[in-house]
Amino acid sequence: VKAAADAAKDEQAFTEDGVQVEVAGNIAKVADAEKLVAKGGEAVGLLRSEFLYESSQVFPSEADQEQAIRQVLTTLGERPLIVRTLDVGGDKPLPYLPLPEEENPFLGERGIRVGLDKPAVLRQQLRALLKAAEAGRLRIMFPMIASLFELNLAKQILNEEAQKLGIDMSNIEVGIMIEVPSAAVMADLLAEHVDFFSIGTNDLTQYTLAIDRGHPKLAGIADGLHPAVLRLIQMTADAAHRAGKWVGVCGGLAGEKDAVPLLVGLGIDELSCSVPVIPEVKHQVRGLSKTQCVELAGKAMMCADAKQVRELMKAFHADHD
Ligand code: PEP
Ligand code: MG
Repeated sequence: VKAAADAAKDEQAFTEDGVQVEVAGNIAKVADAEKLVAKGGEAVGLLRSEFLYESSQVFPSEADQEQAIRQVLTTLGERPLIVRTLDVGGDKPLPYLPLPEEENPFLGERGIRVGLDKPAVLRQQLRALLKAAEAGRLRIMFPMIASLFELNLAKQILNEEAQKLGIDMSNIEVGIMIEVPSAAVMADLLAEHVDFFSIGTNDLTQYTLAIDRGHPKLAGIADGLHPAVLRLIQMTADAAHRAGKWVGVCGGLAGEKDAVPLLVGLGIDELSCSVPVIPEVKHQVRGLSKTQCVELAGKAMMCADAKQVRELMKAFHADHD
């Protein structure tokens, strides 16, 4: 499998019945872009921009941020790059960006909520991104969007900065993470206001099942293959497609062998996984039939729990591999 996967790593991935699934990668620093290209990544589906801030003792300057993004874009060439705006709070603290002490940080100020509360930080990051955009194919993504109100505010800020800089937004796609259940449920409304969705299954699972993703005892049962999570993914994908938009998955499920057939069956257009597994995910997609995956996903959504879905997938692999 490994040899076959490596041999075809630079080819696009189509299912047996001819449906293309774009296979992208998640990166967290400038140097990762080269590794992604070497592994045959077709795009960066998620650049976690936190790295720019975590590696610094003070706020990185606008020029430093621009420079880092330019470097990634240059390495990627024609390949698109999704940069997610700063996603701090919850499990991701920043020493020089004090957030309030909270009893439930995962349910508090994190993601876009921080950006909207401290708009100067968000504006500076957006300016850096906009200025770097000419170096390649940039897409901008907002994290932790829970309502249309937040999306509209974030977009307004983005458009204001673009206008001030005189930058034409028509070539810059704007999307959101779908990682809060309210966003998945309201995806039909949100879809009208974005170019794409990317589903963050790590947080979507945590918030759907009400289990802390890092919980020492419970994290193991916070399984993204829970039928409730799969149904939310289906709602999101259907809403995106009805609005003519594309939808990716950038959470951990995108690189999981048990999940890939289900995500293909749910209509996901792009899988953004960790860089080392890109060739294997492509290889797996090539061995799937979309028609079969749709049927399989239908069965999985009727299961009672994640354990049953895992059993379904075990039987599928036994039949299929
Ligand atoms: C997610 O929540 O699935 C996701 C991709 O974002 P992060 O893991 O960075 O929170
Ligand atoms: Mg997340």
